[in-house]
Amino acid sequence: MFCVECGKEPDELYDGLCEDCYLKDVDVKVSSPIDIEVCTTCGAVREAHRWIERPDMDSIMLKRIEDSIEPSFDVDRYSFMADFYEEDPRNIHVELDVELKSRGLIKHTDKETKIIFKSGQCKVCSRIHGHYYEAIIQVRPTKKSMTDEQKQAVHDIINKEVEVKRGDERSIFVTSMEEKHGGLDYYMSDNGVSKKLAKRISEYFGGEITVSSKLAGREDGRNIYKVTYSVRIPAYERGDFVYHQGTVYRVKEIRTSSGHLILIEVKTGKTVTFDKRDIEDIKVIGGQDMVKKSVIVSEDEQEIKVLDPDDYKTKTLVKPEGYVTKGDTVRIIKYMDKIMLLTEEESNSKDI
Ligand SMILES: [Zn+2]
Ligand SMILES: [Zn+2]
Repeated sequence: MFCVECGKEPDELYDGLCEDCYLKDVDVKVSSPIDIEVCTTCGAVREAHRWIERPDMDSIMLKRIEDSIEPSFDVDRYSFMADFYEEDPRNIHVELDVELKSRGLIKHTDKETKIIFKSGQCKVCSRIHGHYYEAIIQVRPTKKSMTDEQKQAVHDIINKEVEVKRGDERSIFVTSMEEKHGGLDYYMSDNGVSKKLAKRISEYFGGEITVSSKLAGREDGRNIYKVTYSVRIPAYERGDFVYHQGTVYRVKEIRTSSGHLILIEVKTGKTVTFDKRDIEDIKVIGGQDMVKKSVIVSEDEQEIKVLDPDDYKTKTLVKPEGYVTKGDTVRIIKYMDKIMLLTEEESNSKDI
């Protein structure tokens, strides 16, 4: 038994070769350079078609080196140790000690490669930068303009949700906000969140949503739509006083899903439920600022005499059923020169 290559006579032959001659062809190729694309804005690293946020750079470098190693066909297994030498922050020289196993034999070989960090922009950062949006949430008043309180309520609902969501999904953000037609336009990066928020806003105000979508382009073979959720805020809010067919009511609740409006008749304190479509002629006469205090002059079982806060004349009012006075004043509203007793508790006056 002798090696066909060098003529040595070893104990064992591998394909007719001694150990040294056999191991000469057992090798790996390492490609160089290895490019790693890093988002210049957020530091995310590109991996094929996706971007890894908050990457563990050491493990990414080792993985890329592993991917760049191409063993010859007779290598059964291999492992490597790497030493990194930073030439400058974008260029890393890498020295490798690669251990190869073939037919129970072990060979060590030194290799080198280079890692180059390339600048890129991840999908999320390019969307943020490029004013990307998938949906618009429009909030519109019924008349004139939204109040500052209404605008603030919309800001709070949207920003709170976006903040919570962004904890783990950076792709959710408010692209921009515009004041338009007395209302607000929120351009949103994410359609799913927008849908949810439009629903929440409509529930808050008791408004209605209309949805429309427009084909805006194509991405990865799919149609891209931009969706507009338009929320119309009704003229009245919870706690407002309204007038309908000769009767003054206070708005107790607006049920978006069923389209019901629950009102309290001010004169009697009774709760009445309307279908919103049946009372489209409803007129808003004021809000919490209509509520005033009036001094009690005298009272009996049926009636109560109070001072009109405007002209200090005594007015006689009929007591609603079960009405009990507390202290020496009563809460009233005045509409078309008439004083009406308010029956609900003061502590609940805003959130009736
Ligand atoms: Zn040999
Ligand atoms: Zn980025």
